[in-house]
Amino acid sequence: MRAFFYSRPDTLAAVVRAPPHSRYLAGGTSLIDLMKVDVERPEHVINIKALSLDAIEPLPDGGLRLGALTTNARTAAHPLVRTNYPILASALLAGASARIRHVATNGGNINQRTRCHYFYDTNAACNKRAPGTGCTARGTRNRVHAILGTSADCIAAFPSDMCVVLAMLDATINLYGPQGARRVHARDYHRLPGGTPWLETVLRPGELVLSIDLPPISFGSHYTYLKIRDLNVLALAVVSVAVGLEMDGDVIRHGRVALGGVASRPWYVPEVEGMLCGRRPSRSLFRDVADRLMQGAEVDRGNAAKRTLAPRVIQHALWQAATASPQPDGNLPVWSCSD
Ligand code: SF4
Repeated sequence: MRAFFYSRPDTLAAVVRAPPHSRYLAGGTSLIDLMKVDVERPEHVINIKALSLDAIEPLPDGGLRLGALTTNARTAAHPLVRTNYPILASALLAGASARIRHVATNGGNINQRTRCHYFYDTNAACNKRAPGTGCTARGTRNRVHAILGTSADCIAAFPSDMCVVLAMLDATINLYGPQGARRVHARDYHRLPGGTPWLETVLRPGELVLSIDLPPISFGSHYTYLKIRDLNVLALAVVSVAVGLEMDGDVIRHGRVALGGVASRPWYVPEVEGMLCGRRPSRSLFRDVADRLMQGAEVDRGNAAKRTLAPRVIQHALWQAATASPQPDGNLPVWSCSD
């Protein structure tokens, strides 16, 4: 690890006066790992944990505000999250280990970087880590990589479980920076790689996440977060699906689906809401929804199985939501297909 300057300011104004080549430190579960392997090389590390950004509080419109410094574990256990947004609790509990969830923060979860193994290997070409050097993952060992939203320059999958649910819920992220405060939809927060894979979010220099606003929405029991992974603990999604349905008897009044593990960012297709609206659950409807979500998928040498697996997981998740049978927390299916 390289030497760096360290500070721990206690006001927002002081934090956003960060000099160039700075990184904000909260839980540190991602940043410190990346500094140890020389992928992140900040000259200044600014610890933001003295800021009062760890509240979870109801909003006047009936929604809920999650502080950026609230840990993932505390968020998942909060009574208002468990009662009003159980799908968010499910996604948080499906991510990482209990030990990491007790340290990792909501702001850090949103800003975590890819787990592409070549990104961590400083001997490998990687456009995300070293712009213009190439993409080692293309045409090589890439079974965990993305098949949607990729580019010639990068096929890394976005790793967060929480962000898949934030995209499905249409949450809003509150930011603060040298130019003041602004709000960004969670669905617009992460960029597609295109020709600039090193630009992963819409964060401007010096900005940080203050909080996340969840809209007032309830799916009753008609939701699920279904995650397929390689191991029963500490594994990223091979495919994950967040579904929320508002039912009127046996008719879907409003439905949303978001995907994780298969795309360069949380994958949301607004057109799917129109496909589900006013329809009764059926095999043909759910197959059409899965086909629409997978439209444009491009496989590479090692990840073709995701193209086959994902539509099946999407349809299964839709039936779980339609029948009010959410995937039990901590009981996630394991995928046994080998490389
Ligand atoms: Fe780097 Fe992206 Fe290629 Fe992985 S997929 S090696 S992160 S450019």
